[in-house]
Amino acid sequence: MHEHNTKRLLIEVGKKLGEKNLSPGTSGNISVRYKKNIMISASGSALPDLKPEDLFTMDFCCNFNNEKKKPSSAKHLHAKIYEMRPDINAIIHCHAPYVSSFAVAHMPLSKPIISENVFYFGEIPLADYAMPSSDALVKNTAKFFDEHDAVLMANHGIIIGGKDLKDAYYKMQTAETYAQIYLNSMILGQSFDLSPEHIEEIHELRKVFGK
Ligand SMILES: [Zn+2]
Repeated sequence: MHEHNTKRLLIEVGKKLGEKNLSPGTSGNISVRYKKNIMISASGSALPDLKPEDLFTMDFCCNFNNEKKKPSSAKHLHAKIYEMRPDINAIIHCHAPYVSSFAVAHMPLSKPIISENVFYFGEIPLADYAMPSSDALVKNTAKFFDEHDAVLMANHGIIIGGKDLKDAYYKMQTAETYAQIYLNSMILGQSFDLSPEHIEEIHELRKVFGK
């Protein structure tokens, strides 16, 4: 895909993340595999309001060639996830309010209450806190991508990988809705887990769809 079109897609998804209140202010970052490199948002850019000049390429060692801007401080985490998972071609990290509420409560999103979430995520584990942009953050978070496509980052937010940008965006929306429903069920005072048999059925379906 031409660079111009790839940037257009990233700008579109950034705008949607803003419309859905998934990425407040200048928090969060977004990237895609682009040819043999990574195209990523610039440090300090607001995802809902990305300009073409806020998006540029870096290699897998995070080397880049831009005098005016730097890639997002989460670049090493994005690069590590792409390196680990050849099937992941797009990554969104954001501080969406409901998933981030679970991240600050140190509660993984693992309660099997909605079949769709069991299907898409299995569960969304919680990575230990580390300073944003630090090597420890990469170490604590990336390891979960061995088996998961989405990881909560304690006292921070969430990071999600998808087979393409649309997939990553829909997963982000799905995770945020899951967190909202989970929280609402706690306010209501009760929720009922799917039975082990029903969960097993969904896991079988995941295998069929190569999840
Ligand atoms: Zn962040």
